[in-house]
Amino acid sequence: MQQIDLNNKTILVTGAAGFIGSNLVKRLFKDLSGATIVNIDNMNDYYDVSLKESRLKELEALKPEGCNYQFIKGDIADKPLIDKLFDQYHFDVVVNLAAQAGVRYSITNPDAYIQSNLIGFYNILEACRNHPVEHLVYASSSSVYGGNKKVPFSTDDRVDNPVSLYAATKKSNELMAHCYSKLYDIPSTGLRFFTVYGPAGRPDMAYFGFTNKLLKGDTIQIYNYGNCRRDFTYVDDIVEGIVRVMQGAPERKKGDDGLPIPPYAVYNIGGGQPENLLDFVTILQEELVRAGVLPQDFDFEAHKQLVPMQPGDVPTTYADATALERDYGFTPKITLREGLRHFAEWYAQFYKK
Ligand code: NAD
Repeated sequence: MQQIDLNNKTILVTGAAGFIGSNLVKRLFKDLSGATIVNIDNMNDYYDVSLKESRLKELEALKPEGCNYQFIKGDIADKPLIDKLFDQYHFDVVVNLAAQAGVRYSITNPDAYIQSNLIGFYNILEACRNHPVEHLVYASSSSVYGGNKKVPFSTDDRVDNPVSLYAATKKSNELMAHCYSKLYDIPSTGLRFFTVYGPAGRPDMAYFGFTNKLLKGDTIQIYNYGNCRRDFTYVDDIVEGIVRVMQGAPERKKGDDGLPIPPYAVYNIGGGQPENLLDFVTILQEELVRAGVLPQDFDFEAHKQLVPMQPGDVPTTYADATALERDYGFTPKITLREGLRHFAEWYAQFYKK
């Protein structure tokens, strides 16, 4: 592992008006001194832009003395802009989180995924080739495991059965990064995140959608008749994983045959404790009641409907996160109840108005 001290470094975080990116920048603000942090985000309207604006506002307010933080509204699919940015800043570490997220949306809006996840990612790789970086860290996804039946999912498993275009773009990112690591010696690490949740999270995700609906008294639909399991991972655990990985780049080594091994790695970041969706919703509802978002006498049974599986969905996600523990000494720690409590408390505040 090539150790990297992030203090005084110039760091690019793409997509940091987003859920995970904004939490990462907050965390970097806390930990680092003398760093320059650049955040580029196109502020797309895939979900409520005001939520992205509120995250940016919070970042501006938290920006510490001595940290040079810049937000740039721009698109990673805009090659001249990305080239100009890398010319200007000479980044040491790049964390690419900008992407069109969402599995279901990719069934009806493939173009957004090609633009951001393939062309955008290619632009980042090319810029890293032309302006060598110490480490490129990028978001992949548990969705790359597609219809794999064997659990837990290990990064040693074969993944060639994506069930959505979103998953196909994330797997493509790993292949593209491998190629750039091999041909141009760019140290890169892909992180397969497992269902990330938390305060100020993504409104398109199930827990957020359920909350909005329950609050309005609508019925929530639980797919695969409730027989889905998800390895929910609290956002602070994801951020801790990203920060650890940013600090240790894959080393340039030679194999037994004397040939160079590309400085390339992929890890799972997931809680490793999948929860059945029905149990998840029960805990969510209890925490929403506790936080005062739902009334004490809320009749959950009357508001749920069990429905079949949706296209692009998989029945189970379950991370084998032992490789991250082995190489970076980190395993996600926050329990589902604790994480949902933080979410419910945030929701109660944010939607109070
Ligand atoms: P998010 O949508 O909240 O954040 C992504 C941000 O990227 C958004 O603010 C968006 O405006 C921006 N963006 C999108 N396309 C862009 C482009 N072309 N140029 C510049 N900015 C662009 O999503 P998130 O949940 O924070 O996810 C961050 C990353 O993690 C994504 O790559 C996502 O695919 C991946 N991921 C997330 C999860 C999860 O459960 N949240 C799971 C697996 C992987």
